[in-house]
Amino acid sequence: MSTEIVENLINEIMKLPGIGRKTAQRLSFFIMGMPQKDALSIAQAIIDLKEKARFCRVCFNITDEELCSICKNTSRDRGKICVIEEPSNLIVIEKTKIFHGLYHVLLGALSPIDGVTPDKLKINELVDRVKAGGVSEVVIATNPNTKGETTASYISQILKPFGIKVTRIAYGLPIGGDIEFADEVTLSKAIEGRREL
Ligand SMILES: [Zn+2]
Repeated sequence: MSTEIVENLINEIMKLPGIGRKTAQRLSFFIMGMPQKDALSIAQAIIDLKEKARFCRVCFNITDEELCSICKNTSRDRGKICVIEEPSNLIVIEKTKIFHGLYHVLLGALSPIDGVTPDKLKINELVDRVKAGGVSEVVIATNPNTKGETTASYISQILKPFGIKVTRIAYGLPIGGDIEFADEVTLSKAIEGRREL
């Protein structure tokens, strides 16, 4: 059997972040040993994602429609917006069942050194939502690391003129960490214990 075809998959998998050659090789050989239908469903999931998934027009969560399921849900508290870095953060916060407002996904965190300036994130879109009125509190749930902190203080400054409550989720979360990896109890406590910025 030609190794070229395996090599091709290894090279494709290596395009993913954090995956080096060794891991890519291991995954490729694992996929080779998988039942046909399981391997094809991975491929299909990638195709579906790229063909159907897009960002919500309002909050930049991932959706297959114009508005995501949270923005469309009329029983959510429209006066509260929780600001997060990535769509995956929304899933963890939703699991805590403690926040019933809406979200705003920044699609990253400020890091001027890496060229991530405020205009590269969905910050103007957040300001527009606040400007539109009806928002009483913005809960900043960016990651408890340098980029997340920088982003949180930038946003709190920029929202000051609007006279709304801007809070930051409390710690208990590991500093330097990622809310992605926080357990539900810790994250629930952090949301409950949020403080005003
Ligand atoms: Zn949305």
